[in-house]
Amino acid sequence: MQGSTTHRDIRSLSVDELTELVRTLGQPAFRAKQVFEWIHQKQVTSFDDMTNLPKQLRLQLSETYTFHVPTELASQVSRDGSRKYLLEFADGVSVETVGMPSRKKLAVCISTQAGCAMGCAFCATGMHGLTRSLTAQEMLDQVLHVAHDFNERVTSVVFMGQGEPFANYTETMAALRKLNDPDGLAIGARHLTVSTCGIIPGIRRFSQIPEQFTLAVSLHSAIQTTRNQLMPGVKKFTLLRLHEALQEYTEKTGRRPSYEYAMIDGVNDTNAELDALVDFCQGTLCHVNLIQLNNVADSPLKPSAPERVESFQKRLQMHGVETTIRASRGNDIDAACGQLKQRFRVLKDPVKGSNEEL
Ligand code: SF4
Repeated sequence: MQGSTTHRDIRSLSVDELTELVRTLGQPAFRAKQVFEWIHQKQVTSFDDMTNLPKQLRLQLSETYTFHVPTELASQVSRDGSRKYLLEFADGVSVETVGMPSRKKLAVCISTQAGCAMGCAFCATGMHGLTRSLTAQEMLDQVLHVAHDFNERVTSVVFMGQGEPFANYTETMAALRKLNDPDGLAIGARHLTVSTCGIIPGIRRFSQIPEQFTLAVSLHSAIQTTRNQLMPGVKKFTLLRLHEALQEYTEKTGRRPSYEYAMIDGVNDTNAELDALVDFCQGTLCHVNLIQLNNVADSPLKPSAPERVESFQKRLQMHGVETTIRASRGNDIDAACGQLKQRFRVLKDPVKGSNEEL
């Protein structure tokens, strides 16, 4: 249920605030616990669903509070079953979310920011800058939207949509913990993946946490000049420092990060690029995912030929680097992040937001 924006979102209230609220409405304290369970464990988005509450209380709550669940502005369905959504939050800001079903599994790719300040050359989102960061609840809402639409349990979530998760570290961590909560969606930590373009302070903080969340790093080139051109937003975090930070990460956590490498014809698929990539990975704990770049309209960057992707895989494997060629889901829809949004031209005049200090 989409509520009025003038009503406060009931889900933003703490247990103490809920307790105080039910007390002022003349109800016993245990009602607060019931409301809390409906919201955070059963994930309902309507007071009518809170069936063990007296009707009068449900009515009273709905007079002042609401559920700011996102509105679906647009969606596309791919031949491979993937569904892409453009979801709008209460303040009119919209983001993209993708649901990817496969044999009794449902993976969801969520956005952590509306827009992005990183400006990657191959990304439709990066072209428009950052509008604002999302709250943990807004990240969770994207997952719930996909779960409801497919009417299936979500088995994994990748934080790989619009935005840089480590530029919104606190809310991203809160969302990861909500998704992992055994009383909530209970998605295993290893099935929750955060993808960063290489924000070193974020990688360091991430290595301190006790949960086994998975780390993915968008590498895209192991040659500094190429990477600077492709990913200008992380210029200051040099490959040398990134390599050190990833070494520290693997030593501290024992976990294997994955490196995303979108292969771009004539840019990062040359022999020199392959040599540099082998050097960067060889002898370290990592897994390389090679992806053929998605075509972005009007972009001069084009995907590498499939044979070139395969030759990268062979050479990396020859050097003991685990490498997978990842199928690009939703090739027939606007699958690359930012494309659906662009198509529907609903990006409101962006009020430039700011990242957490990087
Ligand atoms: S690829 Fe990711 S980090 Fe880079 S501009 Fe796009 S959304 Fe931002």
